[in-house]
Amino acid sequence: MFAKQGRLPDRPDVACLSQSLGILIERVDELKAACPAVDPGWDLSGICFGVVPGGGLDAYTERVDNEFAIIVPEGLFSLANLFCRLVILLQPIEADGVYLPTAHFEQFRRVTEDPHLRFCTADVLRAYFLHGDPYVALPYRSALPYQDRFTYLLTGMELYVLAHETAHVLLDHLDTDGPMTPEQELAADDVAHRILVQHFSTIDEHSEARAALAGFLFHGLNELWETTVAAALGGRFEAMPAGNHPPAVERALQFTLSMSRTAPPDWFLLVFNAVTLATRELPESLLPEMLADAERLGGIHARAAPRALAHLCRVSTANKEHCWTETVARLLTSQDREDVLLGAWFLIDNFPNVPIHLYHGLSDDDDPEFQALCRAALITLSPIYEHYFPRLAERFREVYAQDMLDDYMLNISQYAIMMAISILDERSQTAPWADGFFDETKPRGRGQCRHIVATVDGAGARYPKRQNPDHALAMAQPEALVTDPHRARSVRSSVRPQS
Ligand SMILES: [Zn+2]
Repeated sequence: MFAKQGRLPDRPDVACLSQSLGILIERVDELKAACPAVDPGWDLSGICFGVVPGGGLDAYTERVDNEFAIIVPEGLFSLANLFCRLVILLQPIEADGVYLPTAHFEQFRRVTEDPHLRFCTADVLRAYFLHGDPYVALPYRSALPYQDRFTYLLTGMELYVLAHETAHVLLDHLDTDGPMTPEQELAADDVAHRILVQHFSTIDEHSEARAALAGFLFHGLNELWETTVAAALGGRFEAMPAGNHPPAVERALQFTLSMSRTAPPDWFLLVFNAVTLATRELPESLLPEMLADAERLGGIHARAAPRALAHLCRVSTANKEHCWTETVARLLTSQDREDVLLGAWFLIDNFPNVPIHLYHGLSDDDDPEFQALCRAALITLSPIYEHYFPRLAERFREVYAQDMLDDYMLNISQYAIMMAISILDERSQTAPWADGFFDETKPRGRGQCRHIVATVDGAGARYPKRQNPDHALAMAQPEALVTDPHRARSVRSSVRPQS
């Protein structure tokens, strides 16, 4: 049913039109390993699983004769990934790997007071609902503390989606052409949960808890989608004929009721709280701001809307690097000191793409607003730029004529990174989720970059000797920034890094 790509493995049950092929194969294999233990009579041989590019939270199943295609939009995997990160950021785990005694209070404090957590939530909501593409949210290049412990949440949610759709096939829900009844949806949710419990039972004794949390994450996202789309589309959404799925709240409630009565492990409640805070409380507190942005842009994106109402929404395509750069530039030019610190940190974290794009933006005559934003961001990084742009434009022309623009851009972006390090001082060695990152009262060493004027246009990359050898190394070798041991990169992590 899917057109096959050349590099696909030769198996009839998977087809992937996007870069998520590896994820899909792993989940399909897990599904097929778990199903016989739940019900030996189930036959999955007529099902092909596929991932298609694009946003959307709606996995769906198509039937042709006795074959079924279960189709998952790639955006759903990406969205699950980003929300798992928020759940991880909401885990107050101490250095020795145990929860703080005041963990519950700390979770609520972070929701209202943590600038990084609030920014990341707003960023993913904007990416998904306004641009229809979770990939335009700033990626997590650095590993979060203890993220490996939460891999089950991400893989479990992905498996839940496949298992739910598979359940519709196995329970003969596709035998008629009509829409699913609410009872059929709830029955499919129940089967999906049982498949997850079986899958996790091969890992450890906490299979019920892990399956429940992954299911909660799915239902939390489903509810978030419904609440946000209803708020953005108002009466037009309310007036839609009852869709294929029962209301998200009802599904989540039913899911809660169906859970095992056995006592969960002590970490269960903290992860459960975090899922609730990440998918409900945090987005709710950020909703008015996002709706105002949607109003300004001309609505939410068609890919985040129900298919029946997509024609009322925006359909523009976003370039992810452009969006990342715009986001970082807006942070850097904010009046809010915490935003500026975040902007400087994300600039370093997204080296070299974002700093290079920031300089490219200076020549973007087609988008004067973006051009002005890039100028303002560079002036924040280094006030000397205020009077330097005409000379810089000249340099761009010179190096372009010499066919050296790419090298030049890389050099000059290293200068921007040095300025960002100067803004962050010692913070550049840590991360916005570390204690005290936003604390202005903490004494810090002065940045070492302020006197560097000669290399402002990057010519020759004449970086001065730096007192901190890590900085010096990072400046001399751009790739050192990517492997800096202080920043524990996500390549070492089993939670997939985003690209
Ligand atoms: Zn369904």
